[in-house]
Amino acid sequence: MKTLIINNLEFAQKQLKLADSFAVSSCERLLEILKLNDKNAEQAAINFELTGFYKQFSHPNLRLHIKTRLPAICQRCLENMYLKLDLSIDYLISETALDTLDENDEMDWLEANNEMNLHELIEDELLLAMPFAPMHENDCSKLSMQSGEKPNPFAILKGKIK
Ligand SMILES: [Zn+2]
Repeated sequence: MKTLIINNLEFAQKQLKLADSFAVSSCERLLEILKLNDKNAEQAAINFELTGFYKQFSHPNLRLHIKTRLPAICQRCLENMYLKLDLSIDYLISETALDTLDENDEMDWLEANNEMNLHELIEDELLLAMPFAPMHENDCSKLSMQSGEKPNPFAILKGKIK
């Protein structure tokens, strides 16, 4: 697993920028939730970009952008599917919790940490963004008809039981 350890305060103060990616297979907690039945899908990439700002707001802050097509199992038809996730999160960095930040604020708070695990942070954000029951956006059976594939008889059976 790629270790992505950064000094988050310094990263913001120096206005650094980092763009990288890693495979879903390196995220154990995420894999547990996705319950993939296709080992190839675990190689799907999670792309991210982290940008530091010295004082865009009142504190040094980081903007994390995560973009991925996360492999998942549709909870309606039990076929493979991809969840398109495009997240952008802003964090304020400070030594102590900020009283001025309330629940509704658009900013999150990160404790100043010279060994922050970016990989874990990204995995945390993806876990938060995951829908409880991922499903194809449109009707599942229609989708498979449109793409010219024969509907999987087992999937239909499962659909009827639900
Ligand atoms: Zn489906």
